[in-house]
Amino acid sequence: MDLSGKKILIDPGHGGEFSGKTYKGRQEKDCTLKISKALENLLEEEGATVYMTRTRDKDFGGKNLDDDINKRVKYINERYSGKGIDVLLSIHVNTERLISRVGVLYPEKGKASKILAENLARKYATFMGNTGYGEADLAILRDTKVAGAKALIETGKINQSWYDDDEEVEQAAFAIVAGLYDYFREID
Ligand SMILES: [Zn+2]
Repeated sequence: MDLSGKKILIDPGHGGEFSGKTYKGRQEKDCTLKISKALENLLEEEGATVYMTRTRDKDFGGKNLDDDINKRVKYINERYSGKGIDVLLSIHVNTERLISRVGVLYPEKGKASKILAENLARKYATFMGNTGYGEADLAILRDTKVAGAKALIETGKINQSWYDDDEEVEQAAFAIVAGLYDYFREID
């Protein structure tokens, strides 16, 4: 199988005024865009149709981070409604703190999303051990209404240097693609 006919919406977290986590000049908004672009390329090679909520360093005009996320959600719901998106993936980076976790979050009451999160976490663990998954009440997961399954990936911690290495970024994206394959195999 390949991914032709599958429609994936990638959401590179943060952007513009809202940099997300930072560590010595490394900014989450740049890391998420880098991974998202690598993911877009790989998915298109596999035949998928890929959409991106942003392809450059921009925000959604919010007054603050929460407002910006709400505007992003609104943009997604307006722009992608009726497009038959199979999967929405929001890409993020966690803080460098010990307690912060790497893993996949899915919305409450989302059966397909839970299956998606399990499969993504299992394959992402081949890139980054200790990748867990769990339910989360986040606007981007809760309030977007255009995708059959939704997940947010905390791809790593902002102090990790692999974000600056294109090959490692590609490996991370590759692990996500492998998880998507497993998901589609399980639900089809
Ligand atoms: Zn984030």
